[in-house]
Amino acid sequence: MLRAIRGATTVSMDEPKEIRVAVDELLKEICRRNDLREEQIVCILFSNTSDIHSFYPAKAAREAGFSMSPLFSSLEPDIEGALPFCIRVMLFAETDSSVKHVYLRGAEILRKDLKRFSIALDGPSGSGKSTIAKRLAQSFGILYLDTGAMYRACALKAQKSHISDFTEDAIQPLMDQLNLEIAYQDGMQHTYLDGIDVSEDIRRPEVSMAASRISALACVRKKMVEMQRKIAAEQSCVLDGRDIGSFVLPQAEFKFFMTASVDVRARRRYDELSAKGFKVDFGALRREIEERDHNDATREFSPLRRAEDAEFIDTSSMTIEDVVAYIRRKIQEKV
Ligand code: C5P
Repeated sequence: MLRAIRGATTVSMDEPKEIRVAVDELLKEICRRNDLREEQIVCILFSNTSDIHSFYPAKAAREAGFSMSPLFSSLEPDIEGALPFCIRVMLFAETDSSVKHVYLRGAEILRKDLKRFSIALDGPSGSGKSTIAKRLAQSFGILYLDTGAMYRACALKAQKSHISDFTEDAIQPLMDQLNLEIAYQDGMQHTYLDGIDVSEDIRRPEVSMAASRISALACVRKKMVEMQRKIAAEQSCVLDGRDIGSFVLPQAEFKFFMTASVDVRARRRYDELSAKGFKVDFGALRREIEERDHNDATREFSPLRRAEDAEFIDTSSMTIEDVVAYIRRKIQEKV
């Protein structure tokens, strides 16, 4: 029976090498998921958005080994709001099985109905979680939720309310009237407290320590976890934090627990803060990291913990690119 299989993928820029890789990956994935051999393929039609003109997807298909199938490439009109750098395919094949359409990379977003997944990245501060999470979210075209920002916003709220006594009794009223919103602009997470964008303010070093203390309170965690689960239920996303795989999303499809030595983590935080213009003392930062590790690991309610089914990654001697590539490979092996 003649059947039509749809697919799409994205590239990050108009560059022949990337187009070749993306087309190769897309066609092979369509064949793999639909159990197809090339003899069954009747023809393959491509279209791509007009920001791609350095290479024909059809040519990339030929190079990828689809030597017999008739191929065709066309250019899509410029439509406002269209997903950029997108390559779409319609593949006709003779098969009696029901078809599985394949949307990869950023194109997953086009068919949220096909597959929704969550990636939980946990670990102590400075383990590289947020950088890795951002890159992963970008490469899969899915949402990144920085849960630490939410605890930081709670700490900032307490500071603004001149509360330094972080007890359930003192903080519960703040949580009851907390006006915290997470919004996305150009793919970047912005944190709004009482309608004000506090994304920069919450990065101040004194807020880090306060966040570590306030996040130990059950009234704070209950409220934040509820918000996090709600956001994660609506779309594919990457969440980074301390208890995502173990508590917030125990059903997450992919779980990783990242860490690095205290020295490496302190050095990373030092570089990050210095680059932002903060004056920091390395020794003090190192001590603070140890203290935050201790707070996070020993608190009673939902401590920093590796979920039993989370994969452990020591990033001490890995580059960001190494870690991203490793995690991407692990995810692609399974989806
Ligand atoms: O990750 P980040 O350093 O921004 O987090 C700030 C603080 O919030 C952490 O030190 C930790 O105590 C707390 N946190 C948490 N659970 C999360 C994320 C962050 O307890 N899921």
